[in-house]
Amino acid sequence: MATATNITLEQELNPWLAAEARFDEAAQRLGLDNGLCKVLRTPSKEITVYIPVQLDDGRLEVFTGYRVQHSIARGPAKGGIRFAPDVTLDEIRALAAWMTWKCAVVNIPFGGAKGGVVCDPAVLSEAELERITRRYTAEILPFIGPELDVPAPDMNTNEQVMAWIMDTYSMHVRQTTTAVVTGKPLDLGGSRGRVEATGRGCMIVISEALKRFGLQPSATRVVIQGFGNVGSMAAKLLSRAGFRVIAVIEIDGAVYNARGLDVPALMRHRKETGSITGFPGGEEIAREEAMLMECEVLVPAAKENVITSQNAERIRAKILCEGANGPTTPVADRILAERGVFVIPDILANAGGVTVSYFEWVQDRQGYFWNEDLVNSRLEEIMVNSFRDVTAYAAKHGVNNRIAAYMLALDRVAFAIKLRGIYA
Ligand code: NAD
Repeated sequence: MATATNITLEQELNPWLAAEARFDEAAQRLGLDNGLCKVLRTPSKEITVYIPVQLDDGRLEVFTGYRVQHSIARGPAKGGIRFAPDVTLDEIRALAAWMTWKCAVVNIPFGGAKGGVVCDPAVLSEAELERITRRYTAEILPFIGPELDVPAPDMNTNEQVMAWIMDTYSMHVRQTTTAVVTGKPLDLGGSRGRVEATGRGCMIVISEALKRFGLQPSATRVVIQGFGNVGSMAAKLLSRAGFRVIAVIEIDGAVYNARGLDVPALMRHRKETGSITGFPGGEEIAREEAMLMECEVLVPAAKENVITSQNAERIRAKILCEGANGPTTPVADRILAERGVFVIPDILANAGGVTVSYFEWVQDRQGYFWNEDLVNSRLEEIMVNSFRDVTAYAAKHGVNNRIAAYMLALDRVAFAIKLRGIYA
């Protein structure tokens, strides 16, 4: 059995093993019986599709796509779709399980799923992306739907991609079915507040964590890795709330300003130039140096495996808020715990996105849309309660926040399975 204490450095970067290590530890501490463990650790469905697409120059290419449904014990499967050249089935499988635990941590009525297409959006035209999206949707069509499995955006997918999925699905079922995906444009059944939701959720849990350290936002230095949806929204909302966002790290560089970056100006600069580098409101520093900078809060919001055995020893943040999924490996977990870093684990920290996706699904099914204040206040209530549930669980069981979040989630999913019974 792989546990956080015996996983090797070679295995460290495998996201499925990382998810399993946390799962095993939480299951062991909960005393879950072996049979239930087998059910919970195995995905319920893995779909692989090969998508023939005609490129703009007339050539035919075949792309590989996945959709993994991990659990439907607590409701329809729910999870994003990512487009990236390095997507693997292992990664999607891990992310699907993470979604089950994430939905259970924030106690919303969904199971977990994830999807991905192996492609490089940087070299594809908009028309090619649309064709890939539509054919991928057509291939997984029998498995998705408002009551079956509800996709959402993830890395390199956005509301336009969700609109194409919704349209493709609707054409096949012969009726407009907005609730088949979340993260849609507002005019097609999207929810107010969805674009900001994951970053806002990060801000809410960071604010809760600050109370434990007796820190004020103005005295709180924040470093953010990744300036995409999650990172830029977290940066914007945190700086608006008075936090000092001193560094932002992107794939091609990092910018630093000890007094705090002007985040809206940095967003404009990136939009205009395509990069955060060359920003006049800060100095350029090395990316790794920025990650290891002394700060109160570090928000990895880019991708998995960025805090590993190679750098965890040198992280100098008091609070680590995981905006991305799986940014910390199990080996790094151990190092951070020894060093007393307060970790807000991904399945709690970035659950604001799926929470507002849940609100979107509810609104679509009701055909009645909420104003932004209502969305934000309901999100805040769920994030604050979940933060308190997880930290109380950690204190009660003498475990770190990550294992507490897993234990809470496993307990909830296992309870649902026991109540339903196994159909056979
Ligand atoms: P995104 O594509 O909008 O942004 C990712 C950003 O990270 C990009 O700007 C990219 O250039 C940058 N990046 C990539 N590799 C990097 C590196 N090595 N160093 C620094 N920057 C790097 O994606 P997103 O939607 O913001 O998702 C980011 C992470 O958050 C993913 O792990 C995703 O699974 C997770 N997440 C997203 C949501 C959501 O609502 N979008 C919800 C929950 C979790």
